[in-house]
Amino acid sequence: MSAETCMACGSSRFSVDPISSERFCLVRCAGCGLAFTNPKPSAEELEKHYSQAYYGPENIKFLPVLEKILDWITKRRARWINKKIRPHSRVLEIGCGRGLLLEALSHLGHECHGTERSNLAATRAQRIVEIKIYTDPFEQYELPENYFDVVILWHVLEHLENPVLTLTHVSNLLRPRGVLIIEVPNLSSLQARLTGKHWFHLDIQRHLYHFTAKGLTTLLENCGFQIMKMTTFSWEQCPFGALQSFLNGLGLRPQTFYKLLKREVSLRFSSKLFHYSLAGGFFLPSVLLAGLESLAGRGGVIRVTTQKQFA
Ligand SMILES: [Zn+2]
Repeated sequence: MSAETCMACGSSRFSVDPISSERFCLVRCAGCGLAFTNPKPSAEELEKHYSQAYYGPENIKFLPVLEKILDWITKRRARWINKKIRPHSRVLEIGCGRGLLLEALSHLGHECHGTERSNLAATRAQRIVEIKIYTDPFEQYELPENYFDVVILWHVLEHLENPVLTLTHVSNLLRPRGVLIIEVPNLSSLQARLTGKHWFHLDIQRHLYHFTAKGLTTLLENCGFQIMKMTTFSWEQCPFGALQSFLNGLGLRPQTFYKLLKREVSLRFSSKLFHYSLAGGFFLPSVLLAGLESLAGRGGVIRVTTQKQFA
């Protein structure tokens, strides 16, 4: 998206969103609500924000008990995807990180390929012999056209510099009627509206684009995809997103509880107890908000299943 026209709907009317930090602001399309971070973070800034701390030491991101839960959630997601595709499908995940999802899909009998630009994140995935990992920008690889049965972009599209270019490339790689599965944070969710600049999933330093259901739908249709299903709830993302957003809104140092779970900060026992107690107090309200907003079709994420249309 340039400042002149929206990459999704082509509108040239924009507004600066009240969600703003000192360094960045959101520029929002008046036509479809899709927004972008302005100014765009420099390459040096982006590199700083994708450090070892972001991916976790030794490629282990969270506390051991959370890693177990994440593992269970990932295998559940793999089974969900498995139901949508044919046996022995060719799967490509763009931004596959540690390769957890691809590993689970390969165990279900699929041929798995993944791209991951961060060598830090790809270390683990590269050790999984069943998965082919590409660490250069995937547009540079000469993968065969119409090859893949399914392409997955899981919390990745918002990080990309040129989503239109990537989606166009994905369209070339997918076979006709191939499936594209995307999940992104939902800028039009109630939790985003209620907590504004404190919203956990805003992550304005790393997310270059911020999607609404209308904006994402328009973008995907323009890139040759037909929307099959769209939902706005994720157990993995929505309750925690609401919880950390509430905690951020209390004026505590942003994302401290999340960083504790990631072992990214070390605090005194009393301070840890304080943060865990607060999180415990906000747990039920957060689950409640995540459930209610999703019932209203305005949950914290947009999960969309699409199919490549015939030319
Ligand atoms: Zn627009």
